[in-house]
Amino acid sequence: MSTQELKTAALPDAVPDYVRAIAPYQAGKPIEELAREFKLDPASIVKLASNENPLGVPASAQRAMTAVISGLGRYPDPNGFDLKAALAAHYHVPADWITLGNGSNDLLELASLALLSPGAASVYAQHAFAVYRLATQARGARHIMVPARDHGHDLDAMFNAIDGDTRLVFIANPNNPTGTFLPAAEVAAFLARVYERHGDRVTVLLDEAYNEYLDPELRVDSARWVEQYSNLIVSRTFSKAYGLAGLRVGFAIAQPRLTDLLNRVRQPFNVNSLAQAAAIAALGDAQFLQQSYELNKRGKQELVQGFERLGLQFVPSYGNFVLVRVGDASRINLELLKRGVIVRPVAGDGLPEWLRISIGLPEENARFLAALTEILDAP
Ligand SMILES: *Cc1c(COP(=O)(O)O)cnc(C)c1O
Repeated sequence: MSTQELKTAALPDAVPDYVRAIAPYQAGKPIEELAREFKLDPASIVKLASNENPLGVPASAQRAMTAVISGLGRYPDPNGFDLKAALAAHYHVPADWITLGNGSNDLLELASLALLSPGAASVYAQHAFAVYRLATQARGARHIMVPARDHGHDLDAMFNAIDGDTRLVFIANPNNPTGTFLPAAEVAAFLARVYERHGDRVTVLLDEAYNEYLDPELRVDSARWVEQYSNLIVSRTFSKAYGLAGLRVGFAIAQPRLTDLLNRVRQPFNVNSLAQAAAIAALGDAQFLQQSYELNKRGKQELVQGFERLGLQFVPSYGNFVLVRVGDASRINLELLKRGVIVRPVAGDGLPEWLRISIGLPEENARFLAALTEILDAP
C-alpha cells in the first residue's frame, strides 16, 4: 500500500452516501455558453429553456432597485419588513405567516431542512419539479416517488403512499416540467384527507410557482387553505410571471408554527436588498402581470398550433412552457442548439422522448418552430 492508500483506508469517509447519490440539477444552458461552444452571436440566440419571463424585468422594479443601490453597503433587512407587509396586504394574511426565500427554491430547501432527516421520508410525484428529490436527498431522507397519471400528480396514490416515516409531501400546481394542473376541488379534498388522517405529523408543501399564469377562473386563493390547515405551506415566486428570476426571491405562507420552523433554519440575510425592493414594486405592478399573462396565453397558442401542424404530441400546459414529444430528444436538442435555439431536455425527469419549451416572445416562438420544422423535415 502507498502512503496515500494507507491514509484513505484509515480515515472514515467524510462524505455521506446520500450526498454522493445526488445527481446535480441540470439547469438551462446559458446563452453565453452556447455562443462559445458553437461560435454563435449571443444576440442571435433564442433561450426558451428556463421558464423565464420573456418581457424581462418590469420597469417598476428597475426603478425601485435604482433607488436602493446607494444603500447596498448595509446588510438587507433580515426580516423583510416592507416586503412582508406588502405580501400580507396582498394575500390577506398576517405578516408573521410569511417566510421570504432566495427564490422559492430556498423555501423548498428550508422545509426539508426543518422537517426531514435520515429515517424520514418525503412523497412527491414522478415527473414533478426536480428540486423535491434533491432537497430530500440532501437531508439523507428517503424519497417516495409516486407514479404519474397522465403526466400529472395522482393524488389518491400520493395519499396512499404516505407512510409512517413521511414528514413532507410536495405538490406542484401547475407542475413543472409537465405543465399539468390539479383543479382546486381535488387539492382541497387531498388537503382535508391528509390533515384528517395525519394532522401536523405530515406537512404538505403546495408549490404554486406558475399560479399567475392560470386563467382567472382556475386560480384559487390558497391562503384561505393555509387558514384552514396548520400543516400546509404554500410557496410562490417572483421568478416567473413577475419577471425577477435573476434576483432570487420567493415566499411561503404558513401558520406561525411552521413559519417559525422555517425561520429557524433560514440564513439571516437570505433575500438581498435589491430583491426585496424589486419584489415590492413588481407585486404592485398589476399591469405588468396582466401583460405577462396575456403574452403567455398567446404564445402558448402559437406553440400548440405549431405542434399540431407538425403532428407532435404535447401535454396541455397551465404554465409558461409546453412539454412536447419529439422522439429522439437528444438529437433534436442538439440540432436546435446548432441553430441557436436553447430548449430544455427532460430525460433526467424520466421523459427521454420529450423537450420542454418555455414560451417566449412571438418572434422567439416563431424562430423555434421554424428550426424544429426544418429539423423534422430533413431527410
Ligand atoms: C421555477 C420553479 C420554482 C422555483 O423557482 P425560484 O426561481 O427558485 O423561485 C419552484 N417550483 C417550480 C415548480 C418551478 O418550476
